[in-house]
Amino acid sequence: MFYSHPVFRPPSERDSLLIQVTVGCSRRSCTFCLSSLVRDAYVRDRDSVLADIAEAGEKYRDTTRKVFFLSASAIAADTATLVAAAAKCRELFPNLRSISSYAHSLDVQRKSDAELSEIAGAGLGRLYIGIESGSDAVLRFVRKGGTVRQIEQACLRAADAGITLSCQVILGLGGVRLTREHAEGTARLLGEVSPHYVGFLNLMVVPKTRLEEDVAAGRFELVDNDQYVDELETMIEGIEPRRRPIVVRSNHPSNYLSLAGTLPQDRESLLEAIRAARVGAARFSEEFLRNL
Ligand code: SF4
Repeated sequence: MFYSHPVFRPPSERDSLLIQVTVGCSRRSCTFCLSSLVRDAYVRDRDSVLADIAEAGEKYRDTTRKVFFLSASAIAADTATLVAAAAKCRELFPNLRSISSYAHSLDVQRKSDAELSEIAGAGLGRLYIGIESGSDAVLRFVRKGGTVRQIEQACLRAADAGITLSCQVILGLGGVRLTREHAEGTARLLGEVSPHYVGFLNLMVVPKTRLEEDVAAGRFELVDNDQYVDELETMIEGIEPRRRPIVVRSNHPSNYLSLAGTLPQDRESLLEAIRAARVGAARFSEEFLRNL
């Protein structure tokens, strides 16, 4: 089976069979991201993808319960390939429960409503969308590509097509200058979209990225621990789910503080945990334990 390294997948897909549908990231623009340093980026041809699934079917037929389509935005592959790959997985893995992939909001926006429904119907039923921030100023500064409005529309259209959304937000991504705008805008966006799941990551500066240069040149000042907690608190306080309850997690290894709950019902207990951390009654992760 073909794999292009480095391989990235969400922590919740640790037990998944990984199928390489695309390679790398076609954007490579985001200043904070390790994938921006990886040169190769292309969609694999359909026959190669299907051949890998067939090979996996011989080896892992009964043990495969989850499949994750690599790589940075596998939804960028043409719809026929995604549907064929998902159908092949359903055919060969009798115990399959889910198929998922990362997706950039602009790649979702390129699909019609009918295509999104077809993809969901074929079994690709969960997308991990790195929304990162609900502030246009932050998205522009980190060169994410796309606007808050486009993210919102992409997420709403995918959810309306029956796709489960797991959205990632990066705490600290606005730096000191945009911390407030980042926190308030992201809370607003998450409330509007009401993704089924939200994962909070904490910004880590990856060596050799443009962000590292920005930090060194003084163009970007990292938030400190208190500001990180402020952002998290502002978001938890401000998220008003409009469509469905939102399961929130900050258990990615990049985080200083691990939280888990559902909004709106667990808002008070989540805020209590944040306040306890602020006064030292709960433990922050040591710096050396944080990771991407
Ligand atoms: S954050 Fe996503 S879109 Fe941006 S460079 Fe990384 S993988 Fe590509």
